[in-house]
Amino acid sequence: MSKKITKYIFVTGGVTSSLGKGIVSASLGLLLKSRGFNVTIQKLDPYINIDPGTLNPYEHGECYVTEDGAETDLDLGHYERFLDAPTSQNNSVTTGKIYQTVIEQERKGDFLGKTVQVIPHITNEIKRRIKILAKQNYDIIITEIGGTVGDIESLPYIESVRQLKWELGEKNSVVIHLTLLPYLASSGELKTKPSQHSVRSLMESGIMADVLVCRTEHKIPKDLREKLAQFCNVSLENVIECKDLDTIYEVPVYLQKQNFDEVVLKELNLKTKKESDLKDWKNFLKRYKNPKKTVEIALVGKYVSLQDSYKSIVEAFIHAGAEQETEVKIRWIYSGDINENNITEIFKNIDGVLIAPGFGDRGIEGKVLTAKFARENKIPLLGICLGMQIMTIEFARNVLNLPKANSVEFDAATPNPVISLMTDQKDIFDKGGTMRLGAWKCALKPNSKLAKIYGNRNISERHRHRYEFNSEYQQIFEKNGLLPTGFNPETKLVETLELKNHPFYIGVQYHPEYKSTAETPHPLFSAFVNVCAGK
Ligand code: GLN
Repeated sequence: MSKKITKYIFVTGGVTSSLGKGIVSASLGLLLKSRGFNVTIQKLDPYINIDPGTLNPYEHGECYVTEDGAETDLDLGHYERFLDAPTSQNNSVTTGKIYQTVIEQERKGDFLGKTVQVIPHITNEIKRRIKILAKQNYDIIITEIGGTVGDIESLPYIESVRQLKWELGEKNSVVIHLTLLPYLASSGELKTKPSQHSVRSLMESGIMADVLVCRTEHKIPKDLREKLAQFCNVSLENVIECKDLDTIYEVPVYLQKQNFDEVVLKELNLKTKKESDLKDWKNFLKRYKNPKKTVEIALVGKYVSLQDSYKSIVEAFIHAGAEQETEVKIRWIYSGDINENNITEIFKNIDGVLIAPGFGDRGIEGKVLTAKFARENKIPLLGICLGMQIMTIEFARNVLNLPKANSVEFDAATPNPVISLMTDQKDIFDKGGTMRLGAWKCALKPNSKLAKIYGNRNISERHRHRYEFNSEYQQIFEKNGLLPTGFNPETKLVETLELKNHPFYIGVQYHPEYKSTAETPHPLFSAFVNVCAGK
């Protein structure tokens, strides 16, 4: 049997950032997967941080966590949500990681006698990181290059793509360039010049774009398509329109209509009899776009002015909402604004509340008030990670009569540390990549609400935290009705809490949102939406 050849797709961006390379990559991945190819998507990020784990969400949006505990760019969330398949450490590369590896090798003496340089040492390491995924038996690897062509930071990546294209030979790789056609309202025209310039900039680096994907507010007239093809040196059918749509979930369908997957496969000399098939995807879309009812859920957090900070939660509500044929409207609430005087007004007519994950003490007391309000007024509440810790603090203060109870994250000297630093964390001082990260098993109690929701007592969920429920308080919580129901099977760490005699008051130390995908909504979000909808 001949050895399988892995094909490579490189996605670059021009004109501006935020054009949606991640969504285009994810959509293409979905189309190719539906044709039977084994596809994965990788992101190369040109910043010097080793990973986004230490970045403020305001800088970079949510930090997404993979099964194997990589802290990554939020685009990896899109890849998983579209492909319905997990990514891993190898799917997320940064300039920081590249340099770290090369410098460690230099110190070991691997390059003894040689000058270590961007070319070839950095570019070799970039190429190694791209090709490493081929070992996992993928037919196609899509590599999204962060940033915009022409950026100083992107140059080594672009040069690596040039070299790889050459090394791989004809028809084994394809470069897709995503660009913007700005619309000038005064003259009513779409303009192609910025795209021409960005394609030229790629060419100056020795790369010819094979396919152009054009973000545009309006349909591209035929003559403009021809102009783009001619001046950007691509064939006419390789000019793909990516018009602004109501939802990112429509993008795969829109691109399929223009034979995007067909065009790419032709460039890669890959043939399949199977057409791309978006039946399940379209079914999800139909339900999402035709809800039978609406619920309003408050998302209480401290980064609410940048909604990308909670990307996976928002998307998980979309998936669960579609499944339940329910539109989920989010009421964004900054926890620092909540006080005893305005809380009733803030949550007026709300169907449910989610207390978001987070770090640091800003806005904490507003979250504690929220937990109390939802508990006393029997409003469905889901607490995620910090959210579960808040529910613990509130219950300790107001039900167990421990008014000074706190997490040691916020008050190191609290007499009642109901949330304490995890034992494994006690000797850790570095901040980067040192939290409890990635998937851990959790055993649910037989008659718990959660066991019923999951339909399974043995689950596995992803984590990102340093603090935990302090097991010394387990019995007293249990006795008073806030029940620990999920435990790490080995360490017995408490991972979930449920309140007795409440329609839905559930806290989880893990992040269910990371595992929700369009085609496999997360059962906990589905159950929560269901309860909020009064079912
Ligand atoms: N700050 C808390 C901890 O580190 C919660 C983290 C989170 O919400 N992801 O344990």
